[in-house]
Amino acid sequence: MEKRELTCIGCPMGCMLTVSMENGEVVEVAGNTCPKGDIYARKEVVNPTRIVTSTVKISGGDKERVSCKTASDIPKDKIFEVMKDIDGALVKAPVHIGDILIQDVAGTGVDVIATRNIEIA
Ligand code: SF4
Repeated sequence: MEKRELTCIGCPMGCMLTVSMENGEVVEVAGNTCPKGDIYARKEVVNPTRIVTSTVKISGGDKERVSCKTASDIPKDKIFEVMKDIDGALVKAPVHIGDILIQDVAGTGVDVIATRNIEIA
């Protein structure tokens, strides 16, 4: 039986998880203190995803950049492409929390949204 060790990122406790797998299927998760760890481990070994947070350049705003995040999880192996699109983006002020800054970032089907307000300078 294959075993994988993971650190849960569900909360600051950072429980050490052991995932037992057979023929590519999870048969047991151990080491989790709560059910979130079990869910995280099962997803992480089969389809790892992450929320990406960053900043996007703003033109004509009272700040030079606006903080942003992906509206939902994206596949972990797309993080580099997502960051490249975010780095290359330039958005005109004003921007408000929840506004879509980049649609379908890196072809993931997920939008990048603003997490703060930027007014016109
Ligand atoms: S298993 Fe639960 S308690 Fe442990 S790090 Fe994950 S979320 Fe936190």
